[in-house]
Amino acid sequence: VPQTIPEIQQPAASIYNINNVQIVERANGVMIRIQTAKSFREASVKAWLNRKEWLYITIPGGQIDVVNFKEPPFPNDGTLRKMVVNQLDDVVQLSFRIAGDVESVDVLYGDYPAEVIVNLRKPYTIDSRHLLNKEREKWRIDKIVLDAGHGGKDSGTISPGGLQEKDVALDVVQRLGKLIQERTDVKVVYTRNSDVFIPLWERTKIANEAGGKLFVSVHVNASKNRSASGFETFLLRPGKSQEAIEVAELENSAVRLEEDQTRYGDLSSQQLILATMAQSAFMRNSETLAAQIQEEFDKELQGVNRGVKQAGFIVLIGASMPNVLVELGFLSNSRDESRLKRASYRQKAAEAIFQALIKYKTRHETLISAG
Ligand SMILES: [Zn+2]
Repeated sequence: VPQTIPEIQQPAASIYNINNVQIVERANGVMIRIQTAKSFREASVKAWLNRKEWLYITIPGGQIDVVNFKEPPFPNDGTLRKMVVNQLDDVVQLSFRIAGDVESVDVLYGDYPAEVIVNLRKPYTIDSRHLLNKEREKWRIDKIVLDAGHGGKDSGTISPGGLQEKDVALDVVQRLGKLIQERTDVKVVYTRNSDVFIPLWERTKIANEAGGKLFVSVHVNASKNRSASGFETFLLRPGKSQEAIEVAELENSAVRLEEDQTRYGDLSSQQLILATMAQSAFMRNSETLAAQIQEEFDKELQGVNRGVKQAGFIVLIGASMPNVLVELGFLSNSRDESRLKRASYRQKAAEAIFQALIKYKTRHETLISAG
C-alpha cells in the first residue's frame, strides 16, 4: 500500500497580508479600516471614486483570501452598500458601492497594529452645520451679568460729603446696561436694579442660573489714606499685596449684614486657593477682560491707573463665567469724590466698561469662528 503523502499546507498568515476590513461610521463620514499583516506605507495604496458610484481601493503587494473573506457589517448611514473583493495578480482591489454623497477620500496608515485607513468625508449636511453652530452658540457672549455692589441696608463706603457707594454703583451699572441694550443684541441681567440688599452668595447664583457669559461687579473704594485715588480692576485670586487684601476685606465685610453668615465658612488662604482653582477655566479670559477694562478706563477716566490686581472677593467666588470686580475711584479722596458725583463722569465710566466688553466680545467670538 503506497503511503499517502499528506498535502503540505502553508499557514494562512504567510500567504495573506490583508486580514480584515471594518467600516466605522463617523460624525462627518465613514472610515474603512483595513487590518494588514505588514505595513503598506510604501506600497502607494490608492483610493478613488468612479462617477460617485463606486469607491475603489487598490493595494499593490496585497494578498487576500477571496474565498473565505467575510464582508464586514455596513453602518446604517447608507454611504456604503456593497463590497467586492478581487485579487488581480499581486494587487488587491476592494470595491465599494457608494450610495450617499462623498466629498473627499483620503488614505492614511496606522502602525500598531498595521492598517490602511480610508476616510470618506461627507459634505456638511444641515445637521452637522447645525451642530457646529450650536457649539459656537454656546460660547457666544449673548448675556452679561451686571452686579451693582452693595444696596439696601448695605450702603458700602460713604464719602465725607455723604455720597454712598451703593448709589454710585447702581447708577453706573444702569447706564452700562442701557448702553448694552441700546447698541447690541446682548442680554443684560442685573443682580439688583434698585436699592435692595442682595447677599453676596446670591449674586453669583443669579449669574449662574441666568446662564451669564460674563460677570462684572461695580464698586467704588475707600482708604484711610486720603490721598489714595484712581481706578483699578480685580480678579479673584489670593491677594498679593496688603493693599489688595484690604480692598477685599472691605468689600467682603458686607457679609456681616447677612442673616446666615455660616455659608461662607472661613475664607482662609487654603479655601481661597480652592475657589480660585475652581475658576481656572475662566481665569485667562477674566485677565483679558480686566486688562481691557483698565485700558478703556485709562482713556475715559481721570486720575491714577492703578492697574489689574488680585484678591479674594467673595462676590466672585462660584461664578462659572469670566468675572471681574472694578473699583471706579476712592470716595475717601476729595478729587475722586467730586468726579464720581458728576453724572457725566459716571457715564464715561459706563462707556469705558461698555467699550471693553465689546472689544472683549469681538475678539472672543472671532477666535471661536476661526477655530
Ligand atoms: Zn464695594
